[in-house]
Amino acid sequence: MIFETLSRRFYIMLDIKIELTKCPKEKPTDESKLGFGKLFSDHMFVMDYTEGQGWHDPRIIPYQPFSLDPATVVFHYAQEIFEGMKAYRTAEDKILLFRPDCNARRLNDSADRLCIPNIPEEDFIQAVSTLVSVERDWVPHSADTSLYIRPYIFATDVGLGVHASKHYIFSIICSPSGAYYAEGIDPVRIYVEDEYIRAAPGLTGFTKCGGNYAASIKAGELAEEQGFAQVLWLDGVEKKYVEEVGSMNIMFKIDGKIYTAATVGTVLPGVTRRSCIELCKDWGYEVIEGKLAIADIMAAAKEGKLEEVFGTGTAAVVSPVKELKWKDETAYIGDGKIGPLTQKLYDTLTGIQWGKLPDDKGWTVEVK
Ligand SMILES: *Cc1c(COP(=O)(O)O)cnc(C)c1O
Repeated sequence: MIFETLSRRFYIMLDIKIELTKCPKEKPTDESKLGFGKLFSDHMFVMDYTEGQGWHDPRIIPYQPFSLDPATVVFHYAQEIFEGMKAYRTAEDKILLFRPDCNARRLNDSADRLCIPNIPEEDFIQAVSTLVSVERDWVPHSADTSLYIRPYIFATDVGLGVHASKHYIFSIICSPSGAYYAEGIDPVRIYVEDEYIRAAPGLTGFTKCGGNYAASIKAGELAEEQGFAQVLWLDGVEKKYVEEVGSMNIMFKIDGKIYTAATVGTVLPGVTRRSCIELCKDWGYEVIEGKLAIADIMAAAKEGKLEEVFGTGTAAVVSPVKELKWKDETAYIGDGKIGPLTQKLYDTLTGIQWGKLPDDKGWTVEVK
């Protein structure tokens, strides 16, 4: 305890050099057209890693391209991880982050699996907070808009040998993003993927690495061609148990209980997922994290017991599902509208994130 207090007191913060841009970009005047991840703010955070020296030269610089050798490791072997989080503007013009400690920890879990050096949690949070503070005017003002924050680390050794790199770049960019549900919350159709898989035990399913996404694009495109918003992934071994959707975790309310896949290696441990679980438990729901067979879900739908289905993730918060297609069966959920629990989770989480509800859980961190 004493040790912890001492080490915290003497913790050496990053010495972040800040170089401000001489030609700031025009900020968007029409925030209804922001979309997602299309426009980037004026500055970026960059820090280098060199084996033997550790992380060094943390800096905030004008947003700019990297100059990289064509033989840079990340281009060929995808040694890369990322995070996704948001900064929210409250009615009092405070800027809030949501559970950034969870992102810091998850980044390091991803890093361990990809042989990428860890970043101390405090440094990660300081880097994010400092960049968002510099970019605070880029946090949009309209209802339900936010500044999307993308931290990422990639290997920068030059050469085609397959080894853990000795050099890395940790960078953070920010993108002002529009209201996810500008046209109101519209439940989506989901295609249960029966051929391709996203993850398998021992692989990288629990990490946020670009490679997971590269492997998932094909199934996503095929589903989209058939009018589905997302793919629901089944387990990679038996293709029997539900895991997650696209870039979201997924939850099922069946006969009053909440079910979701356990995060045991093949499923990304979402911050929104765990926040929804905590809230559901607070509200007295039984939440079961475990194996849930797609066949049982389809059967529950037939019996009229599949009450609500929703994805959870930072971008959408919650995304209600109205239809699941698995092989030649289709399950219709509720009356095609957002269910009451999904709506309550949405209202509670967005209420806390935008400072409209008291943050009893201490989930938000103000950026000064
Ligand atoms: C990021 C991500 C999620 C959601 O995580 P949040 O922390 O809630 O945003 C779920 N699944 C995958 C595959 C992801 O990459």
